[in-house]
Amino acid sequence: MDFNLTEQQKMLQNLAGDFAEKEIAPRAAEIDRTAEFPRDLAKEIGKKGFQGLPYPEKYGGSGAGYTSFVLVLEQLCQASVAVGAIMAVNTVPEEGIYRFGTEEQKQRLLKPLAQGEWLGGIGFTEADTGSDPRLIKTVARRSGTDYIINGQKQFMALAPALNVVLLFARRENEEGLNAFILDASTPGFILREPCDTMGIRGLGTSVVYLDDVRVPAENLIGREGQGFEILLEAISVERMSVAMQGVAVAQAALDLSLDYARQRVAAGRPIAKMQAIQQQLAEMASRIEAARWLVYRTAFLHDQGNSIQYESSMAKLFASQVAVDVTRMAMQVHGSYGTMKTLPVERLYRDAKMTEIYVGISEVHRSIIANRLI
Ligand SMILES: Cc1cc2nc3c(=O)[nH]c(=O)nc-3n(C[C@H](O)[C@H](O)[C@H](O)COP(=O)(O)OP(=O)(O)OC[C@H]3O[C@@H](n4cnc5c(N)ncnc54)[C@H](O)[C@@H]3O)c2cc1C
Repeated sequence: MDFNLTEQQKMLQNLAGDFAEKEIAPRAAEIDRTAEFPRDLAKEIGKKGFQGLPYPEKYGGSGAGYTSFVLVLEQLCQASVAVGAIMAVNTVPEEGIYRFGTEEQKQRLLKPLAQGEWLGGIGFTEADTGSDPRLIKTVARRSGTDYIINGQKQFMALAPALNVVLLFARRENEEGLNAFILDASTPGFILREPCDTMGIRGLGTSVVYLDDVRVPAENLIGREGQGFEILLEAISVERMSVAMQGVAVAQAALDLSLDYARQRVAAGRPIAKMQAIQQQLAEMASRIEAARWLVYRTAFLHDQGNSIQYESSMAKLFASQVAVDVTRMAMQVHGSYGTMKTLPVERLYRDAKMTEIYVGISEVHRSIIANRLI
């Protein structure tokens, strides 16, 4: 076991920390307030090479690995979860193509994603379900050399700026799902209303209608009916990323709480001197540290070539609980001022709750973990 970061990882961490502090943090409150997707920051994330960190150079990446990826993500999400999450969403099509695509698909579809020229998303969730593939209604019908897709997707992140989507559709008259890379500029891909969510606002999360959308058969990823297997594998990296979002939001809440406790005076002394506040701060720090190392280890295992379906569920379940608990404690430390929009703590509190819900609800992760145990 080696807990030290490499020189390259430290350099990436510094680069990301600098970018987060100078370019993301000053805009975090505004992005949350307007819920407008920050296209320029998404482009900058691509330009800096952050979208390609885990993937080999021959597919447009830098081969820095998943540990480097989560280290960068941690920095970005401490400034704004909504901005950091852009990186996380983009990995789902990248992973799908990297793990299940042909060599030709990796060159044609993974390269521009990893190079940051394209932005990729995922289309699984529908009005009836975000958890159960049996309830997916979007259908892919074969027609000559194409598939024709009809349906409706809910909560599609990055939707206003997407170039491609890893889209899941049911097979016509057959069991199972197919996974496609769909070009978002194809006629029939209709961007509908944004989803006005409580937290992680500004991620461009929207409803999308699919009206006779043609996808060439060469964009089918994996085999016919292999869609759910592809989803589980591809989404593990996003689950690990949401776990890191939980760690980052909790760390940001602890940092604010420490500053506040040092300067806020009650009963004639800074509240940081009170045992009740110290107990909370110690609890927050310990839980964050445990969650952080769970995420780092998950990334390390993926770097070693292991599937992380089990570990990413565990990391997401635990880190999202930590995020919710720690931001609740941070609100308490801040008293009434914590509830005000003028301070960032209430945003962190709202963002933290989202990590328990999106990219698989906690109940589903408990089932995945229990199934493996049993
Ligand atoms: C900001 C944001 C961004 C998102 N981005 C995307 C995206 O880019 N692409 C995409 O496809 N989706 C996206 N989603 C959707 C999200 O991942 C799903 O909404 C989420 O997985 C939960 O699905 P659901 O809302 O349908 O909950 P449901 O599956 O309806 O579950 C509702 C509740 O029922 C219970 N429940 C359901 N199933 C089980 C079970 N098996 N065991 C025990 N209890 C259960 C739980 O209490 C659960 O909370 C996004 C959502 C948000 C909020």
